[in-house]
Amino acid sequence: MDDYRKIKSLATQYAPEFVAVRRHLHENPELSFQEYNTCAYLKEQLMSLGITDIESVAETGLLATINGNKKGKTVLLRSDIDALPIQEQNDIAYASKKEGVMHACGHDAHSASLLLCAKILLELKGDFSGSVKLLFQPAEELSPGGAISVMKEKAYIALGTIPHVGQHVRPDIPVGKVGFRSGKFMASMDELFLTVKGKGGHAAMPEKIIDPVLITSHIIVAAQQLVSRMADPKTPSVLSFGKVIANGAINVIPDEVSIEGTFRTLDEEWRKIALEKLHKLVTTMAEAMGGSCELKINHGYPHLKNDTALTEDLRIYAKDYLGSENVEELDQWMAAEDFAYYTQANPACFYMLGVGNVDKNIESGLHTPTFNIDESALEIGGGLMAWLAIKTLLG
Ligand SMILES: [Zn+2]
Ligand SMILES: [Zn+2]
Repeated sequence: MDDYRKIKSLATQYAPEFVAVRRHLHENPELSFQEYNTCAYLKEQLMSLGITDIESVAETGLLATINGNKKGKTVLLRSDIDALPIQEQNDIAYASKKEGVMHACGHDAHSASLLLCAKILLELKGDFSGSVKLLFQPAEELSPGGAISVMKEKAYIALGTIPHVGQHVRPDIPVGKVGFRSGKFMASMDELFLTVKGKGGHAAMPEKIIDPVLITSHIIVAAQQLVSRMADPKTPSVLSFGKVIANGAINVIPDEVSIEGTFRTLDEEWRKIALEKLHKLVTTMAEAMGGSCELKINHGYPHLKNDTALTEDLRIYAKDYLGSENVEELDQWMAAEDFAYYTQANPACFYMLGVGNVDKNIESGLHTPTFNIDESALEIGGGLMAWLAIKTLLG
């Protein structure tokens, strides 16, 4: 089986069915860890394709297996299935029917194209040896994420022997193109919760109070040293605070201020050191000013590193399938993704599927209420995944 044209024509033939699947998922989004109906629907779809080897995983996820004509290697293809707490603003016939919940990260498209890929692989299973595992993973959008549970429950997934391949839609890449990056690709993500305590009182009598608003101001500015002075300039780092609540008044200094933010980087050792340094910096600075600061850290996903050998192979296969002009080299990206857990334990590759189309006004970003995709990307995503899986099993 070394002919991508057969896969392309099957993808074209079957695509309309999976556009309908994607629209069903889009209309019926479910939040992370609550994907019960989505899981049941996906299971129904897999069964209707004739797949019998389907296991439940991570409560609301599925792991299906397609075997080729004889024993051989195994490759795992992963889609995520959850939606986001966003109210959809698209004026489309298949808009979300669920108030305040939306597939704004394209996980509906990932699932539909993985199903299309499954249908193609089933049709070709006489032509390849080995097994393809299809993982429909829940809860990508909410830390601690679903990937960790999958790896705990299916230990062989974390043994480091099975190549893992995932794709994610990107509206800033035109439909028809895909993007790859070898090595470190996406950032680790930690959530920071700071409580700065002082002693509130009348704003006109600063000598009688310890002002947590002023301490907070110093902390926010000083903490940027982490990125500008302490980090190796060659290691990307981001520290952002998006929420600062000082619930006083014009003439009232509050007792405490709360701050929330995120720290992201592309190096696990630096990540650990940076969080320790941040802790020391915020606590000692608050103490020096007469107050105190508590830092709570919700440790999120690690950074995502694409295996160099696997990524280089997949890039070559993708060029065969789409033409070299349609395979882009990507920059590092400071977004986080729980596929990163698989990449820490296995040879893995997470690549980007173009879904943008400026002529059709499809260019809204991921996680926005007007996010949408050019649905012709499903045919490309489903067919390409099948091709990459078969080539990886043969290679
Ligand atoms: Zn997302
Ligand atoms: Zn996503």
